[in-house]
Amino acid sequence: MTDNDLLNVASEYGNPVYVYDSAKIASQYKRLTSAFNGIEDLRINYATKALSNISILKLMRQLGSGLDTVSIQEVQLGLAAGFEPQSIIYTPNGVSLKEIEAVAKMGVQINIDNLSLLEQFGARHPTTPVCIRINPHVMAGGNSNISVGHIDSKFGISIHQIPHLLRIVEITQMNINGIHMHTGSDILDIGVFLYAAEILFDTAKHFKNLEFLDFGSGFKVPYQKNDIETNVEELGDKLSTRFNAFCKEYGKDLQLIFEPGKFLVSEAGHFVTQVNVVKQTTSTVFAQVDSGFNHLIRPMLYGSHHQIENLSNPSGKERFYSVVGYICETDTFANNRKIPEITEGDLLVFRNSGAYCFSMASNYNSRYRPAEVLWHEGKAHLIRKRETFEDILHNQVEMAFSEMHEKA
Ligand SMILES: *Cc1c(COP(=O)(O)O)cnc(C)c1O
Repeated sequence: MTDNDLLNVASEYGNPVYVYDSAKIASQYKRLTSAFNGIEDLRINYATKALSNISILKLMRQLGSGLDTVSIQEVQLGLAAGFEPQSIIYTPNGVSLKEIEAVAKMGVQINIDNLSLLEQFGARHPTTPVCIRINPHVMAGGNSNISVGHIDSKFGISIHQIPHLLRIVEITQMNINGIHMHTGSDILDIGVFLYAAEILFDTAKHFKNLEFLDFGSGFKVPYQKNDIETNVEELGDKLSTRFNAFCKEYGKDLQLIFEPGKFLVSEAGHFVTQVNVVKQTTSTVFAQVDSGFNHLIRPMLYGSHHQIENLSNPSGKERFYSVVGYICETDTFANNRKIPEITEGDLLVFRNSGAYCFSMASNYNSRYRPAEVLWHEGKAHLIRKRETFEDILHNQVEMAFSEMHEKA
């Protein structure tokens, strides 16, 4: 898919618009599975929450992926996309016992991350296989918003609680078939990841009926030139060797699972917006696009860097811009960004817009969520229509105040 294709998509479907390149998703999938080709039984469970459009899920299924889900609604989406319940794992945090029971009933693999629900679920359903999410207390990456393995994290069962965990399993006689960890969003140091993996192996030794070990995700992709990314080939090499040795020790060939979101879809996504206003102030030049954190919140929420390019004037003279949105709130996408000269009406593209972009979009300021287009085999396919005013009013219930006043 070329930038010219992006311009054509925008002229056909309007803007702002999210465009995803299926070939990039497929090549990332292939890269990951190739890196782990030393593993006999490897499973990739795509993390649905990164980009949950049903056509993207169907593409993942086509590629051979399973699904990682965090809500019963994501499970339902996966089933609607044609996934077998057995190829879905459900890794919620802080949900009710009722929801976990409903998902277990569907035949989906349950992953429990706290002792309270583990005890309650085990007591009521001792024969249902359950995976346990542990917190190895290993800090991956630097941003505390996206590091979920450390001591203050709400995710997982602390490895310091293993004795209590074992006691619950013994009393309830429940069936533990997998151990899981997801340490955070950025694996930058393979040594740190392997250290966490050792903790997972140590935990696994306590359980006799395991079928799989799930190493979560955290594959970092480059967001800008010279950005550090996870060396998946090196990780594949080292972890595969260690995993295979562990299986020998354990006495059984286990399945190795990864659940990448960002790695599979981030770079495949391109968000195309149009510049409404170029506004010179005393201190900067603002380029204001027809979007805001209602459509792409990562820069404001995490301080994430998204490369911004001028599709309409790619070879223009570079100048510094503050790229902001049209929301009545500070919605700065980027400050002091060098971009080829911008004129009102130009189309700007935000790169790396596949993961956690559309899926975090809202209707703030009563704006429509954008359309989504999948670029597949040389053609654009609309996979989500732009919202309309009916969508804005859809669930709102209009009260009739004048009648109430008369009755009173
Ligand atoms: C979000 C999430 C993932 C995916 O993380 P990425 O950084 O997008 O790869 C995987 N597993 C669980 C349990 C998650 O919550």
